[in-house]
Amino acid sequence: MHENISALIEKLLPPNVAGMLRNSGLAGAHNGLSVYLVGGMVRDLLLGRLNLDLDLVVEGSAAEFAEALKAAYGGKPLCQSQFGTSKLDWDGIKVDVASARRETYARPGALPAVSPGDLKSDLFRRDFTINTMAVNLLPENYGLLIDMYGGKQDLEAGLIRVLHDKSFIDDPTRIWRAVKYEQRLDFQIEPHTLALLANALPTLDAVSGDRIRHELEKVLEEELPEKALCRASGLGVLQKIHPALTADEWLARSFRMMRASSHPEVHVKQAYLCLLVYRLSARQMAEFAGSLNLPTAWRQMLFDVAALKTIFDVLGYPALRPGQIYSILESYDKTALQAVMVVAPNDVVRERIALFLNKLSGVKPLLTGHDLLLMGVARGVKIGQIIEELRQARLDGRVNTRDDEVSLVTALLAR
Ligand code: ATP
Repeated sequence: MHENISALIEKLLPPNVAGMLRNSGLAGAHNGLSVYLVGGMVRDLLLGRLNLDLDLVVEGSAAEFAEALKAAYGGKPLCQSQFGTSKLDWDGIKVDVASARRETYARPGALPAVSPGDLKSDLFRRDFTINTMAVNLLPENYGLLIDMYGGKQDLEAGLIRVLHDKSFIDDPTRIWRAVKYEQRLDFQIEPHTLALLANALPTLDAVSGDRIRHELEKVLEEELPEKALCRASGLGVLQKIHPALTADEWLARSFRMMRASSHPEVHVKQAYLCLLVYRLSARQMAEFAGSLNLPTAWRQMLFDVAALKTIFDVLGYPALRPGQIYSILESYDKTALQAVMVVAPNDVVRERIALFLNKLSGVKPLLTGHDLLLMGVARGVKIGQIIEELRQARLDGRVNTRDDEVSLVTALLAR
């Protein structure tokens, strides 16, 4: 059965993307190279989901093909990387072009050894059957669906299935990917694959923190990441990052509240991470950060979550002035504050963090350092101190206008 999905391509994809696919096939034909659309876009086309990540596989040199495509139709080369992969930016569309390749694994968690291959071996190195389908882009066969490993059948049955029994052992990061796809698509990991996944859990220990972090970040970029996290928790996958982690109804509710309350400038992915570790002790958070090799800024953010948990008493003190709330909170990471605000244990603390984020953190005196110099303040630390005094006065409502500020500075200088 040779299904042709060119009509689906025309119907679902924006005209410039569909045009790009046709042009890719023409460029391949001109240069004697077979070109295929592969991966998530094929899967999502068949599911009727929009996906604009173009992954092309060429039987032959991807670099040569990318050059030919650029020469014929323009586009900006973004980079050429290891494994002969090229990235092109074509009218704002990002296109990944790779040479068909074969992969073999020396040991669990190691990166694969790569050698040139054909389409069949390239599809066989993939994680799940639903990701193994390809579409021929050459003009004479344009739109022909290639399904060598039963991807369409599993897609229709809603199943996540590995291609062979060693799949999770070869690459344990596929454990996280299985959970991510299952929850994103409302599919099921089929029973044999689930048994293989459970058996392969110990191999996650052999994978570098960077690679696990990459997969966790992908999960946190999902529309509803709590689904995959709860499933990963139930399977014991999450606990391979740190044994004290859990994802449950509390976490799901916190994520929902986070989305509902989030500021446009808050990094939602990082805020989710803060919520994920919120119930850990400071020491466990440090262990978590170490096991994922988190970047310094993210570590600092998690340390701020731990530190904020220790100041709820101070922050809940009955008669705090706005200037005092500012002083208590100004040094903390904004994303950590946003996350803690969602789950803090009492209303006063939540309201004060919200007041700080929504209003107080943006309060600045009208007078600048330059104005102070003109008023005779000496260069140096004094300028900063007066700016802080002015900010406190403004926060507490003791100055409201520029003239008020000038009077306050004059009084301070006279003192
Ligand atoms: P999507 O979630 O929409 O599939 P993605 O960003 O998760 O996108 P990528 O990580 O870009 O997908 O991977 C693209 C394709 O490469 C996947 O469809 C899959 O077939 C393959 N792939 C990615 N990672 C692995 C892996 N660890 N093992 C095997 N195949 C993989």
